[in-house]
Parts: sequence; structure tokens; C-alpha cells
Amino acid sequence: MRGLRARNDVAQGLGEELGRREILLGALPGQQISCVEREEIGMSTCRHLVVVLGDQLNHDSAAFDDFDATLDVVVMVEAREESTHVWSHKARTALFLSAMRHFAAELQDKKIRVDYRKLDVHRDESLQAGWLAAIEQHRPESIVCVEPGDMRVWQALNVTAAKVRLPLDIRADRHFMCSRDAFAKWAGTSKSLRMEFFYRNMRREHGVLMEGTKNDEPLGGQWNFDSENRKSFGKSGPGFVPQPPQFAHDEITRDVLALVAREFAAHPGSLENFNWPVTRGEALIALKSFIDDRLDAFGPHQDAMWVGMAFGWHSLLSTSLNLKLLDPREVIAAAETALQKRKLDLAGVEGFIRQILGWREFMRGVYFLDMPAMKTDNHFGHKNALPTWYWTGDTGMNCLKQTVTQTLDYGYAHHIQRLMITGMFGITAEIEPQQLCDWYLAVYVDAVEWVELPNTAGMALFANGGRFTSKPYVASGAYVKRMSNYCNGCRYKPEIKSGPGACPVTTLYWNFLDGHEKTFAANPRTSLMIKNLTRMADDERAAIRADARQMLGNLDAL
Ligand code: FAD
Ligand code: SF4
Repeated sequence: MRGLRARNDVAQGLGEELGRREILLGALPGQQISCVEREEIGMSTCRHLVVVLGDQLNHDSAAFDDFDATLDVVVMVEAREESTHVWSHKARTALFLSAMRHFAAELQDKKIRVDYRKLDVHRDESLQAGWLAAIEQHRPESIVCVEPGDMRVWQALNVTAAKVRLPLDIRADRHFMCSRDAFAKWAGTSKSLRMEFFYRNMRREHGVLMEGTKNDEPLGGQWNFDSENRKSFGKSGPGFVPQPPQFAHDEITRDVLALVAREFAAHPGSLENFNWPVTRGEALIALKSFIDDRLDAFGPHQDAMWVGMAFGWHSLLSTSLNLKLLDPREVIAAAETALQKRKLDLAGVEGFIRQILGWREFMRGVYFLDMPAMKTDNHFGHKNALPTWYWTGDTGMNCLKQTVTQTLDYGYAHHIQRLMITGMFGITAEIEPQQLCDWYLAVYVDAVEWVELPNTAGMALFANGGRFTSKPYVASGAYVKRMSNYCNGCRYKPEIKSGPGACPVTTLYWNFLDGHEKTFAANPRTSLMIKNLTRMADDERAAIRADARQMLGNLDAL
């Protein structure tokens, strides 16, 4: 550290030194000296150290706005702690590492100097330690980075820059269609935020799915077609589902898969099905395949679930979007073009676009607005430990077994599996939100905190008391039965509320309502549920309470 401070002092004195050394090198005052020349005379060797994080793999990012390959160096750190601060799925780690290595190779092809710090070389290096080592080596005048999507990483950058007393230039992330400032302005001082109004603004502002002489009317006369997008598959099941494209593993991916299998052997999940785009080229193939083959049927059945059907008609684009291999504007434009050219069903295309232009942008805005409180929010004061079967799928509840097993196999579950199976169980089983949030951050390949936390703590667990949802997302086993075939292979019966064969999803749902009867009776969005509860006989309610108590006391046994 002493060496680093000494070098940093050199960097600080750079301004005064520069004139003298420029003259030594024959450069005119004010003219910049290249990295190589700087190295030759043993002075600070780079202007900007550009920190590129694992989810910032975008050649057009603001980090490169004034990039000068003769003056600047990129640093990318593969930090073990990024896989261990939550016990990450092997596929999640593999995806980040492979995509980072591919991106670094692309930068190097452009003759950009990249200090790429591999996990198997710098074994236990943290992000901070990696950046400090790079600072010591390259002695930059300043550090440049685009807004991190995780406050923990942002904090680490601040601490690093303060430690070495270097200016830190954090630049806005242009990948997003709504800046943090614009979102904060839209939210104002409102206590409760609603995605729907934000989404309408975004539609107007970006001219997406609009019509009318002033282009200010929603296409089709309606902003939201959600009610048409909630169909189940019916008894006959999903039928033929076009498969997503297969991505052959090149040498980089093969190396990474071997590395992860070796270094993270005890971590959850499988690498066997690893088939995520790791370059922009592959991400574009994934986008085309979705638009050509699955967008037309995406809408109506996007909430439906079926044993053995991991992906359905879903786009599988979240990883490419979150790593910034794809731009949300191009995804939205591709869907809009397909709607017009192929005369697709507006409800389905609107439903898809809403997820990206609406929910995705909204969640990012809320994350930065509500952190750090969001990380510790626990509206209901739930304290139960996460059942161990969340890491194994070893439970008798078939809906949870199927969803968790699929998650471990692929690092993927679709929105309703996350919200209405693993999330809903979490809230009615009174699991401490932070434990479940950490699980989501660990097991999904698309998990980055800015999008994971608001979805989990805010949407699924109501941990922030309904900041942007009007009611907790809870339902009985009847919902699971309607939307899937999970109940067919289950040892429990969805319609049984208590006693032998009672479905824990159902029992815990009624128990949850029972425990919050007054509050939910006063909320127009939940009052109907309470009406149904009050129709029950007292002894039935008592039996539910007793069974629920037993279940809550031993969630691992379910
Ligand atoms: P599709 O169903 O095809 O949707 C299209 C795109 O819309 C997605 O790729 C995604 O970019 C976006 N999108 C859809 N829903 C949301 C949403 N609620 N918030 C933000 N973007 C959305 N998404 C993540 O990207 N990372 C996460 O860590 C994550 N954690 C979640 C945790 C919970 C509890 C819940 C309920 C949802 C979570 N989501 C998360 C949102 C959503 O489930 C995933 O984006 C989606 O399942 C990814 O699959 P897909 O690409 O096939 O999406
Ligand atoms: Fe899930 Fe209950 Fe259906 Fe079993 S019966 S799959 S526990 S909802």
C-alpha cells in the first residue's frame, strides 16, 4: 500500500511534472504524451483507467466516449467474491465470465489495452483489490466507470478512488431509456409509485406503440392488454414450442465452463444446459429467433406453466439485455416492426414491450430511488429461515419442486414461476425477505441487484409495504392448478385447506389472509379475498391456523 501511495503522489504531482517531461520528450506544452512514452520515462502511464464491470459489455457505453487507446487502459476484474457473496449458480458465474472474456477480446481486437485480471490467475482477488492492483500498475490520473447496477459495487468504487485519492468519473448509463434523474423527477415525492403511469409516459416520450394525428394515442385505443395475456394451456398442454437457438461453446466458453466446474464445484446448479448468448453476435441471433419464432404466441400464455417446459414462448433475452449485449431500443423496435409487418396480435406485442419499456426501466428507477432501505425492508416482520430445499428442489410440493429444479438446471424460470411459485411461497411461509432476495440473486443467470431486488423485495414479497404494488401477490393452490399441470403430480391437493392432503400453498394462503384480515379488508384490491375468508366457519379457520402453525414450524419437511 505504501508503494501505491507513493505512486499516487507521483500521479498527483503529474500536473507540475508534465511540463518538464513534455519538454524532455520534445512534446509541446499541453500536447498529450502516449502511454508508451509515459512508461519509457517512468511517469504516470495512463490518463483514464476505465473500469468495465461484468454487466457493462457495451462498446457504445459512455465509458468509451472520449476513449483514447494511446492514453487510456481498461481494467476488468474476475472477482471470486462476485460468486460467493451470494452462493451463485454455476451457470450465472459462467455466463458473466465467458461474456466478459469475449468482450475483452473484442476490445483487444480494437487495439485497446485491457488489464484483464483472470480469476484463476489472481485467485482470491476482490474487485477492489483488482482495481487497486491495476491503479498501482498503470498509475492513472483518474478512474472512469459507468453507473454500476449494484450499490455495493458503487460503494467499492468510491472507497477505492478515495483510498488512492484519484478523481472518480461515474458516467450515466445510456443503455437505459429513462435516466436516474428523469425517473426521480417523475416519481417526485409520491409515496406510492405505479408502473402503469410511468409506462404511459415512456410510450409517449419514445413514441412506442402510438398512433393518432399527434401520435399521442395508444395504438389500438388501449394502453394495456394484460387481461388478454393470462391464459393457461388447458388440459392438452402447450403443444409444439419452437426451441431457442443453440450456441456452440467456443474455446473461451469451454475454458470458463471447466474453470467454474473446478473452482465452484460446491455451488448450486448445473452447467450441462449452458446455452446463453455470450457475445453481441449471439445475442442478436437470440433476438431474431424470438421475434421470428416465438413472439407471435408469447402473449396469451406468458403466465402459463407446464412440467418439463422451461422456456415456453419467452424471449430469454434478459441476460443479453442485462449484460448490455442488447439495447432495449433495438429489442422494442424489432417487436414493433414485426407487429406491423406480420400483423401480429397487438395484445401479445404490447405485453412484451411493456415488460421492457415499462417494468424493466421502472424497476431500475425504483432501485436507485429506494436504496439502501430496500435492502433491509421487512414490512411484515417475517423471520423464517429459507427452507433448505430452495437449494435442492427436494420438496413434496410439486409446484416448488418443478420450479426450483428447473432453476437449478438452467438458472432460469419465467416471471410467473418466480412471482407466483417461489415468491408467493416466500411471503405466505413468512420467510425473511433478505434470505429469499439473496437466493434470487444467486440462482438466476439474469440476476443483477438493480433488477433482482425490486422484483423480489418489492413485487414478490411486499417487503416495502406496497411502494409500487397495490396488494401482495398471493393466491391459493387453485391458481397454481389453473395455470399449470403441477398439481397433477403432487402429493397434496390444491383444494384441501387443512387436514390430511392439505396443500401447503392453500393452507398458508388462508392463514396469511387470516393474520392480516383487518388490513386486507380495508384494501379494495384484497377485500374480496377477505369476504371469502369470512364465509368460512370458525372451526375451519381454526383448523387452518393450527395446520399452518405446524407447517411454518417445519418448512423443511413440506
Ligand atoms: P420475457 O418474459 O420474455 O420478458 C421480456 C423481457 O422483459 C425480459 O427479458 C426482461 O428484460 C424484461 N422483464 C420482464 N419482466 C420484468 C420485470 N418484472 N422486471 C424487469 N424486467 C422485466 N429479471 C431480471 O432480468 N433479473 C432478475 O434478477 C429478475 N429477478 C426477478 C425476481 C422475481 C421475484 C420476479 C418476480 C421477477 C424477476 N425478474 C428478473 C423479472 C422477470 O422474471 C425476468 O426478467 C424474466 O423472467 C426473464 O426471462 P425472459 O428474458 O424470457 O423474459
Ligand atoms: Fe403446489 Fe399445492 Fe398444487 Fe401441490 S397441490 S403443486 S403444493 S399448489
